[in-house]
Amino acid sequence: MSLDPTDWNETRAVGRAMVDDILTWLETVRERPVWTSVPADAKARLDEAVPRAGAPLAEVYAAFKRDVLPYPTGNIHPRFWGWVMGTGTTTGALAEMLAAAMNPHLAGYDQSAAIIERQVLDWLKELVDFPKDASGVLVSGGTAANVEGLTAARVARCSFDIREEGLRAGPPLTLYASSETHGWITQACETMGMGRQALRSIAVDDDYRIDVAACRARIAADIAAGCRPFAIVGNAGTVNTGAVDDLVALRALADDFDLWFHIDGAFGALAAWSDSRALVAGQERADSLAFDLHKWGYMPYEVGVILTRDPGAQLATYKPGGAAKPAYLRSAEGGISVDTTYFADRGMQLSRGFRALKVWMSMKEQGVDRIGNAIQTNIDQARRLGVMVEAHPDLQLLAPVAMNIVCFRYAPSGLAADTLNSLNEAILIALQARGIAVPSQTVLHDRFAIRVCITNHRSQDHDFDALVDAVVKIGAELAAA
Ligand SMILES: *Cc1c(COP(=O)(O)O)cnc(C)c1O
Repeated sequence: MSLDPTDWNETRAVGRAMVDDILTWLETVRERPVWTSVPADAKARLDEAVPRAGAPLAEVYAAFKRDVLPYPTGNIHPRFWGWVMGTGTTTGALAEMLAAAMNPHLAGYDQSAAIIERQVLDWLKELVDFPKDASGVLVSGGTAANVEGLTAARVARCSFDIREEGLRAGPPLTLYASSETHGWITQACETMGMGRQALRSIAVDDDYRIDVAACRARIAADIAAGCRPFAIVGNAGTVNTGAVDDLVALRALADDFDLWFHIDGAFGALAAWSDSRALVAGQERADSLAFDLHKWGYMPYEVGVILTRDPGAQLATYKPGGAAKPAYLRSAEGGISVDTTYFADRGMQLSRGFRALKVWMSMKEQGVDRIGNAIQTNIDQARRLGVMVEAHPDLQLLAPVAMNIVCFRYAPSGLAADTLNSLNEAILIALQARGIAVPSQTVLHDRFAIRVCITNHRSQDHDFDALVDAVVKIGAELAAA
């Protein structure tokens, strides 16, 4: 039996309606609140028994339109600046539909989709000044990309055969990153079996950049104590404040001790596409560079990238050696099985989807210069918001605006300092609950910060004006109550 439509024309009609509706929905995104909680009646309808029997596509689509579509995260909205969430594009959404319809398997193989993935990787390498022969692979996102980079680092620099013998065969491994590094790194240490103790969390300076001298001292002390340092992780854009570590100094430090230099550039690496590329100067000299396209590349979830300078090092991490390659995955001289596992040998995934299509179509349709201009606009908007905050008597900037993130709080004179944290948290919740805007939160030196991270190609200057007005208005209202 086939699961294909019994009536293709009916499916065609529903499909056309879907495309039509979704384009209108995207076109009118600004008219809706940034975010609304899923109402109880929709939640109740979404709690169903296993659908043993099917229903017409039109009916299923109607349920989607009624109970799913109206309650998104909100990150496609022009006033969403929470965490580090990308906005997506219309072209990216359409590309996802085409990719799903083609449904290719991207372990490798002789097929157009593999050529497209190699093509976009070549473009991506060039855009961050990586060598032409560097290795790369598209992954689910920044976390996966960082783990792939660290895994390659460990194989390359641990000084024993960790793939064959595991961690017990060598001295305790250690790696170095600033205390501002994103939480993926603790997760990676746990998942990779080294434990969190392997991570040497290095202090930062007033600009939230790693203290390079402290890092050097810690490496030397660890070597003296019998540990085996293997990698330094630099940040090109920290998640809290957008700080960029001194990447040139970290490269030199890594070279002094023969360590792998990995960079987490989840969003910041994309500054290289803009006129502000000097912000991330030095990232092109990393041994591995991880970044997302679903954040500042504005492409739909999920797509991240890991680039590895030495192509042999990435292969040496995953490619099964000799006879270890299972017979069912071996490449042939001809037929479809040429390069059967071209991509699968470069990362953890075997079955892989056609992520590359949305990247290829987005880059071709928008043009990379235009995407770079959107990135530059976000940087300009952050600077402008920082200036507005500093100029406002009732607002206080809590960290330097290094890139596209602004951390601030409502702090008019006359309010007790110990009430400011709870007040600002209440302001943030009100902003979100009233559907005005969605910044998120962080804590800097024990101060609760309203954190605005701009990876949004739909935001305009007046959106930030509206945010400032709302914070001040809600702040005054809550402080009076
Ligand atoms: C978002 C982010 C990550 C994690 O990336 P995901 O795509 O969410 O897995 C890592 N580092 C930084 C700096 C980030 O902003």
